Amino acid sequence: MVAALNAAIAAIRSEKPKSTVVLTGAGVSADSGIPTFRSEGGLWRNYRAEDLATPEAFARNPLLVWEWYEWRRSLVRDAKPNAAHLAIAKLPNTLVVTQNIDGLHQRAGSKEVIELHGNIFRTRCVREETRSEAPDPFENLPPHCACGALQRPDVVWFGELLPEGAFERAARAVRDSDLLLVIGTSGVVFPAAGLVSFHNGLSIEINPQPSAVSSSCTFAITASAAEATPPLVEAILDAGTHR
Ligand code: NAD
Repeated sequence: MVAALNAAIAAIRSEKPKSTVVLTGAGVSADSGIPTFRSEGGLWRNYRAEDLATPEAFARNPLLVWEWYEWRRSLVRDAKPNAAHLAIAKLPNTLVVTQNIDGLHQRAGSKEVIELHGNIFRTRCVREETRSEAPDPFENLPPHCACGALQRPDVVWFGELLPEGAFERAARAVRDSDLLLVIGTSGVVFPAAGLVSFHNGLSIEINPQPSAVSSSCTFAITASAAEATPPLVEAILDAGTHR
């Protein structure tokens, strides 16, 4: 980890990036105590995420899916942004493209965030498609809209399309940036994982495990997000060229 981190810092010092895009996945929030889908703590009542985060699972058993979301919502409510979220928020004029639905980048202070997969504290009426902020626990599950139809979490489930325009905007920003940081993503959830291929310049991954995008990045730092993100951000800020 130390050799790759030092090499990445040296590359930042020599290339002096003027712009950065940060692409994050569940791993950036692991250090805040929110389990990733594929970690041991990510299992709930022995269900796999792939068996709950689908439109089919919701159609079959909305109560079960909502019970899982209420558990996840309580974990996120109790969590705090970690050193990685806080460091990323120090980068001026930097777009964060996240697959996370936990809102921790915004809570850390990041201003420009594309949430590719929605937000766990918003609901959507399945009939009217209207969205509502829903930060507090529900008294009754599953929640219903005033129109009588079910509410669903306003998140993107496996097999669903991303919010309109979000991928295109993210892809343009990734292509046009000097530096891409890829933090805590397995690189197996598409289309988000495909964003890495839009970048031509310097790219740095932080992930304690090899991922499906490690070999596409210039440097792969095998470390936790909270450990390796702050020194990289300091190097970018020290270069003094970031707009
Ligand atoms: P994933 O669960 O598939 O993979 C997470 C990655 O993070 C893994 O490669 C793992 O090695 C890495 N990781 C684990 N601990 C880490 C740490 N401390 N620092 C850095 N990296 C670490 O997650 P994904 O690729 O983001 O995609 C799966 C889907 O899961 C996404 O669509 C996302 O919506 C959803 N999800 C979101 C949250 C959240 O909002 N916090 C949590 C779980 C899952």
